[in-house]
Amino acid sequence: MPASPCSHVTLTPIGHIESDYPDKFGVPRQPGLADAARARLVLTAPFDDPLTVRGLEAFSHLWVTFLFHLSPERWTPLVRPPRLGGNARIGVFASRSTHRPNRLGQSLVELEGIDTDDAGVCLRLRSVDLVDGTPVLDIKPYLPWAESRPEARAGFAPEPPPRLPVRINRAAQATLDARPDADSLRALIQQVLAQDPRPAYRKGAEERVYGVRLRDVDVRFRALANTDDQGEGETLLEVVEIVVV
Ligand code: SAM
Repeated sequence: MPASPCSHVTLTPIGHIESDYPDKFGVPRQPGLADAARARLVLTAPFDDPLTVRGLEAFSHLWVTFLFHLSPERWTPLVRPPRLGGNARIGVFASRSTHRPNRLGQSLVELEGIDTDDAGVCLRLRSVDLVDGTPVLDIKPYLPWAESRPEARAGFAPEPPPRLPVRINRAAQATLDARPDADSLRALIQQVLAQDPRPAYRKGAEERVYGVRLRDVDVRFRALANTDDQGEGETLLEVVEIVVV
């Protein structure tokens, strides 16, 4: 058997992401789960030539290939997907884990527009699951006739993750209302918290207050029991404070 003709590759980022997510914690686990999340993909020279994106504006969605630059380089053959509660192990190649050989990620995102000027090329994106600063290695237009497969089997993740109800308390509402981006930030908070960003092994109500960074704020929230008259119900996440950081 001949050895692989290519045993080592060097990749050059074509740009980087500027997003609403300063930290990993709280970022939805796939794109499309929080469509209020906006991002910019800023191309780097020499890829920032407007010729590189000629024709791209005719596509509504893009595949973005990127580096999980905040993940460690070490990897293991088995990982514990949050969807399985964080305990069951499956093969790294049967998962979308960020801890993988080569640390490559792939996200299907919405393309809102392209800005080209003397300063370079910037793609306006939404519905991203990417941390601010993520290096981007490639982009390709999405072809629904070739790549949409609604009949496909989806292993341990056959459905979108469940969503929790979210409540924003009065003090946090007041902080939001005073901001020029009140509506879009409110939508982002609702969509991000509905995914329940807490670690997979945390379920139900708890005393602890968590903080998730979105744009320039720290959104502090806790999990409450959302019981009905019969004392039954699901968990509710309540935003207790919004602090500008
Ligand atoms: N859609 C991509 C995929 O399937 O390859 C990413 C899925 S991965 C499970 C999504 C998670 O990656 C997010 O919840 C966030 O915590 C994490 N993440 C996003 N950008 C990252 C980065 N630059 N470095 C490390 N982790 C990142």
